[in-house]
Amino acid sequence: MAGVTFKNICKVFGKDVKAVDDLNLSIKDQEFMVLVGPSGCGKTTALRMVAGLEEATSGDIMIGDVRVNDVPPKDRDIAMVFQNYALYPHMNVYDNIAFGLRLRELKGFFWQLSHMADAKKIKADIDTRVKEVARMLDIEKYLQRRPKELSGGQRQRVALARAIVRKPKVFLMDEPLSNLDAKLRVQTRAELIRLHRTLGITTIYVTHDQVEAMTMGQRIAIMKDGVLQQCDVPETVYNQPANKFVAGFIGSPPMNFIDAKIVKEDGVVMVDTGEFKLPLGAGHAAGAYEGKPVVLGIRPEAVFDKGMETHVKGTEANTISAKVDVLEPLGPEYVAYLACGKHNMIATIDTGTKIKEGQTAEFIVDLERIHVFDSETEAAIR
Ligand code: ATP
Repeated sequence: MAGVTFKNICKVFGKDVKAVDDLNLSIKDQEFMVLVGPSGCGKTTALRMVAGLEEATSGDIMIGDVRVNDVPPKDRDIAMVFQNYALYPHMNVYDNIAFGLRLRELKGFFWQLSHMADAKKIKADIDTRVKEVARMLDIEKYLQRRPKELSGGQRQRVALARAIVRKPKVFLMDEPLSNLDAKLRVQTRAELIRLHRTLGITTIYVTHDQVEAMTMGQRIAIMKDGVLQQCDVPETVYNQPANKFVAGFIGSPPMNFIDAKIVKEDGVVMVDTGEFKLPLGAGHAAGAYEGKPVVLGIRPEAVFDKGMETHVKGTEANTISAKVDVLEPLGPEYVAYLACGKHNMIATIDTGTKIKEGQTAEFIVDLERIHVFDSETEAAIR
C-alpha cells in the first residue's frame, strides 16, 4: 500500500484550458480522500492523471516513493471504479470479477502449463479470492448471473468487487454512486466506508456531492476552476472554511451571505449589514477592516427561533428581527425564508415553532458560528 502525492501538478488541454492548476496534495497511506467540487473543477482530470489515463502537463505524481508520470497505467497497481460500471455483458458475475486476476496470471499461467499442479493452484487461488470478495459485498448468490440480470446497485457492487479482488495499492473512484437511487446511494456509501476500514487501501474518491464528501472523506479536498481551495477534515472544512467558495459549497441549505462593513462601537468590532449589527469576538482579525466592505456568512443552522428553548442564549447583541416569508417543511425541521429588511436569509427552524408565515419574529444568531470574508479576495477573516 502507498500514499499518493500531487506535486505542482498542472494539466492544460489544448492551448489554454487549465483543468488543474498547480495542485499540491498529499494523500496518506490508507487514507480515504475525497476530491469534491462543481462540474468542470478538474477533479476527474486529477484522478485520471493518477491512473495514467491523462498525462500531466507539468509536475510530479508519486505513488509511494515512486514518480509514476512515465509509468504505464497497467504497472501503477491501481484499480478504478467509475460511474458507469463497464462490466463485460457476455460474462457472468464470477468471470467479471475473476477477469482481471486471470489476465494478470496469464503470462505466468502459460509458462506453468507444463506444471499442471501450479496451474490448478492458481485457479483455486483465484476461486478463493473471487468468493471471498463476493461474500464481502454480499453478491455471492449472483455469481452465475449476467450483468443485465442485476439491479443497478448489484452491478455497482460487482464493479467494486472486481476492483477490490486485485488488492491494488490505490483505489480511484469517480462518482461511483451517482447512478444509484437515493436510498441505495446512502446504503452503498456506508458499505464503501466499511470496506475501506476493513481493507485499509488508500482511496481517492471524486464527487460533486458535498454530502457524500462530508460523510465519506477522512479528509476533503475542495476544488474550483482547477485550483485546490482547501483540504482538511470534514469538521474543519465546515466550521472554518478557508474562503467564501468553500463556505457556500459545504453545507445544506447553503450559508447565507450578506454584504456588510466593519465598524467599531465602544471598542467592539461589529459587522454592520445596514439592517442589523453583530459583534465579533475580541481580537478578531476583522478589526483591521474598519470602514471596509466585507461579506458576513451565517449558516441557516446557526439561526434560532427566540421563542423556543435553544442552547444559545438570546441577548440584545445576537437578536435580529425578521419577517418569515415562507416556512418550508423538511420533516425534522422547517426551512424558513426570512426577510431582514433588504436582506434575505434562510434559517432552519425546529418544527415546534409557533411562528407563522407572514409574521415578524425575533431570531437568535449564534455569534460563535458567524463568518466574515474579505469582499475582494473572498478569503475568510478570523
Ligand atoms: P465533472 O464533475 O463534470 O466531471 P470535473 O470536475 O471532473 O467535472 P474535469 O472533467 O476534470 O472536471 O474537467 C476540467 C476541465 O477540463 C473542464 O473545463 C473540461 O471541459 C476540461 N476538459 C476535460 N477533459 C478535456 C479534454 N479531453 N479536452 C479538453 N478539455 C477537457
